[in-house]
Amino acid sequence: MAPKKDRAFQKCINPDCGVQYDCSQTLVKCPACGHLLDIAYDWNRIPVPKKLSDFGKRWADRNNPLDFSGVWRFRELLDFCDDPHKVTIGEGQTILQRNDELAAQLGIRPGRLFLQYEGLNPSGSFKDNGMTAAFSHARRVGAQSSACASTGNTSASMALYAHSCGIKCTVFIGSGRIAYGKLSQSMDYGGKTLQVQGDFDDCMKQVQDVCRELNIYLVNSLNPFRLEGQKTIMYRIIEQLGWELPDWIVVPGGNLGNSSSFGKAFAELKQLGLIDRVPRMAVINASGADTLTHLVNNKKLRWNAGRVDNKAIGDFYAELTAKKFSPHTCASAIEISRPVNLTKCLRALDVCNGVVLAVTDAKIIDAKAQIGLYGLGCEPASAATIAGLKHLLADGVIRPDERIACVLTGHALKDPTVTVNYHKDKMGPFSNPPIEVPNDLQEIIRRMTV
Ligand SMILES: *Cc1c(COP(=O)(O)O)cnc(C)c1O
Ligand SMILES: [Zn+2]
Repeated sequence: MAPKKDRAFQKCINPDCGVQYDCSQTLVKCPACGHLLDIAYDWNRIPVPKKLSDFGKRWADRNNPLDFSGVWRFRELLDFCDDPHKVTIGEGQTILQRNDELAAQLGIRPGRLFLQYEGLNPSGSFKDNGMTAAFSHARRVGAQSSACASTGNTSASMALYAHSCGIKCTVFIGSGRIAYGKLSQSMDYGGKTLQVQGDFDDCMKQVQDVCRELNIYLVNSLNPFRLEGQKTIMYRIIEQLGWELPDWIVVPGGNLGNSSSFGKAFAELKQLGLIDRVPRMAVINASGADTLTHLVNNKKLRWNAGRVDNKAIGDFYAELTAKKFSPHTCASAIEISRPVNLTKCLRALDVCNGVVLAVTDAKIIDAKAQIGLYGLGCEPASAATIAGLKHLLADGVIRPDERIACVLTGHALKDPTVTVNYHKDKMGPFSNPPIEVPNDLQEIIRRMTV
């Protein structure tokens, strides 16, 4: 007799393999073929609400931590562990702000531009959506120790969740490539920090080997459970639009975990009959870390029903290695040239009829200052969305009457250095530098009135 199957299982995304694994296993890649894994569900065995608005009712119950969590409120859509294993510290209390002022600046019609502030999460970035899910799975499998490679926010979030459930954690960061706001967090939350002499891609490789050697739980976005938690960002956008869909989702692209999980979220909602169409998606790279843009726009790399041209990817990475290329952008959270979720992102672009493009650092920091003027602010990587949106409007890809939701992935205070330099050094049209005045009343009054 076949073993009793769980309602959730892990499944290789390669259609020529497709091997399934139990959720009690800790895997980051398919042991049979080395491709990425998905979490798949036997939906017939999960009591998914008949309509999305049923999830909204839970919001009102602040006494049940799982109902209050902006992630676990949607638990039937990520049903891979039982409630006692779930770890929550109030993630996902984030808002979708309608921003008509910024819309007007960009030539977008009123009521059409929305900013999803994921910086409002407990550790200040969207990563908490994924970390609550990864650590719930880590508890299910009894993990003692966790690790990640990080440009900063993954480590901050990991350290917070690891500490809250008594699991040890180690952060791998590249030397000199981390914003201080983020580094300060993982140290404060008790994470062990290893500063590797290399960049993020080097750290990513090392941490995978270390986790395999020492049987440590890896929480980078290779971890398929983490991506399940990040799906809820999309559910909350729909919720805050009164259970209506936007026309466009705009998201920065780094390791491509977010874009991958958003595509999966929409594919599943459609399959379940909870939505009747899928929004389009724009993934925005920084031009100093534009692997996705290069491969999709120049090399025409596509999902191709799962038969991705891995040779094209391998050739491009070999070129990067030969050139000793290291990615460079002020948006440190997306300073990644070998994105681990590349193939899943191609699938998401396929599901969402997506587009990708790269924007310069100058455009990113201008957009960051603009967002700061009109809203709650964000870190540079998040502002790539608005910088990219400007291009897409100019190119006529996105129309000014379409409903657009930009995901602002991290809090403005994560990287004060970039912000201070932009203003102090008058780097762009939105710079607002401090004015030095002598300690003299008349002089101060004079400066204040000019
Ligand atoms: C991690 C991160 C990103 C990149 O997200 P991916 O899912 O890796 O593409 C973007 N912005 C911020 C603030 C981040 O912390
Ligand atoms: Zn496989």
